[in-house]
Amino acid sequence: MIDFTLNDKQLQVKEWVHQFAKNVVRPISLQADRDHRIPDDFLQRLHNMRQMMSVGEVPREYGGEGAGATPDKQGKSQKNRFTLIGAEEMAWGDVSVLMSLPGPGLGGPPVEFTGTPEQRDRFFSVFKKPGLHWGAYGLTEPGAGSDVAAIRTSCRKEGKQWVLNGRKCFITNGGRADWVVIFATIDPALGRAGQRTFVVEKGTPGFFCGKIEDKMGLRASETAELVLEDCRVPEENLLGGEAHYDKGSKGGFMAAMKTFDSSRPMVGILGLGIARAAYEYTRDFVKDHYMLGRALPRYTQLAETLAEDKRLIDAGRLLCWRAAWMADEGLPNAKEASMAKAYAAKVAMKVCADAVQVMGAHGLEHGNFVEKWYRDIKVFDIFEGTGQIQRIVISKRILKDPPTFLMSSIHRAVITGASSGIGLGLAQRLAKQGVEVWLAARRIEVLKARGGGDRRCRRQSPRAGARCRRLRPHA
Ligand SMILES: Cc1cc2nc3c(=O)[nH]c(=O)nc-3n(C[C@H](O)[C@H](O)[C@H](O)COP(=O)(O)OP(=O)(O)OC[C@H]3O[C@@H](n4cnc5c(N)ncnc54)[C@H](O)[C@@H]3O)c2cc1C
Repeated sequence: MIDFTLNDKQLQVKEWVHQFAKNVVRPISLQADRDHRIPDDFLQRLHNMRQMMSVGEVPREYGGEGAGATPDKQGKSQKNRFTLIGAEEMAWGDVSVLMSLPGPGLGGPPVEFTGTPEQRDRFFSVFKKPGLHWGAYGLTEPGAGSDVAAIRTSCRKEGKQWVLNGRKCFITNGGRADWVVIFATIDPALGRAGQRTFVVEKGTPGFFCGKIEDKMGLRASETAELVLEDCRVPEENLLGGEAHYDKGSKGGFMAAMKTFDSSRPMVGILGLGIARAAYEYTRDFVKDHYMLGRALPRYTQLAETLAEDKRLIDAGRLLCWRAAWMADEGLPNAKEASMAKAYAAKVAMKVCADAVQVMGAHGLEHGNFVEKWYRDIKVFDIFEGTGQIQRIVISKRILKDPPTFLMSSIHRAVITGASSGIGLGLAQRLAKQGVEVWLAARRIEVLKARGGGDRRCRRQSPRAGARCRRLRPHA
């Protein structure tokens, strides 16, 4: 039996965070957006509250408050579920405030999953100190965002130190972070296998903050450029130690990817938190302005829009919860995390656009929440992997094993678009099954061997011959 009810502790967190978001966070939201910053004393207050509620990001075994650290009745972690429940409510209040909260942020998962016990202890213990402390995650570069394998920030070993050179951009809380997880490469030609993950501490010579980005949305959240110029990092700061990267393993790349398994459902729910805020705002607006004494056709249209938006938000939340539950259960959830994020971002953009539309010109006025939410929401389809990238992740996983009925009926295939990972992967799998495979430049096309497909294949192959590489002929 599937149970969608929240337990008492979860309901308590949800209600408490909601009241906090409503009475404390929302009132400063527009001003923070105008000022491009959230006052430190306000963040300190929030930090204290979070510790009191035991809903922070630092694992309890490292002295932190540990989100949802109490296991459920079966003894399973509830960390991801708790985080999502609280995050939706905070996002309903203001996402920039949530993203500015002190704590390891996105830097937490790579340290937690890849770091040695000594590293976890050392880097998480920063957050036990009084005052405000942040961690950050430095992957994106001017020439490498979606394509993580293309990073150019270099690292080379000199004695007991690593020397890092490069530039990172759009790093959340990067300018104020006590440490940043930096992804670098020993040799770009090695692709993912060449990647190494370091923790670079604030104040390390050669490591400094460049410009702070001036963005369309999430303006109160700090997004920074980071520069590494002959920055010398002790070997103890290589996450997981040398052994983690032995034998060409993709340890550095995996550290980047594993972060997304828990952060993508979280980003999805943040978008939905904003969408819910916009939906509720619009619903109340419609009730106040259009329900009484107005023409029925207009009301009917608006009611339909609201009904659809509510349905989409609820469906998106279930996808996010499923992905978070899988993460708590320790189940592989890359596909489900991407599905949740891709769907939630699309839904959230639609709902926020609907909110502006329903309010007409007023929806565009500065100082109106829906105008801000409309600006804030776009990035949810960009960071943590764009919508297109999520679709690639999902399709790679669902196409991984072509159905057996298809496999048994093919003996020759022309795969166009084989420069992509998906095309090449499919080609190799087909070739292993004894299928004759031809690679060309565009579109994936699998031709059935028997009947008309065979003729078409013969026609195409010689024409494409110059560009094609024959993988393995059909026996
Ligand atoms: C507010 C904000 C906060 C951020 N915080 C962080 C952070 O803390 N740490 C961090 O490392 N990064 C951060 N980022 C960066 C973010 O993760 C990247 O912007 C994102 O990964 C997209 O990369 P890009 O901007 O280089 O776009 P690109 O990768 O250049 O993509 C441009 C377009 O091409 C499309 N595209 C790219 N590859 C493909 C493909 N193979 N097939 C089809 N379409 C494709 C994309 O979908 C997109 O539409 C942040 C960004 C913002 C805006």
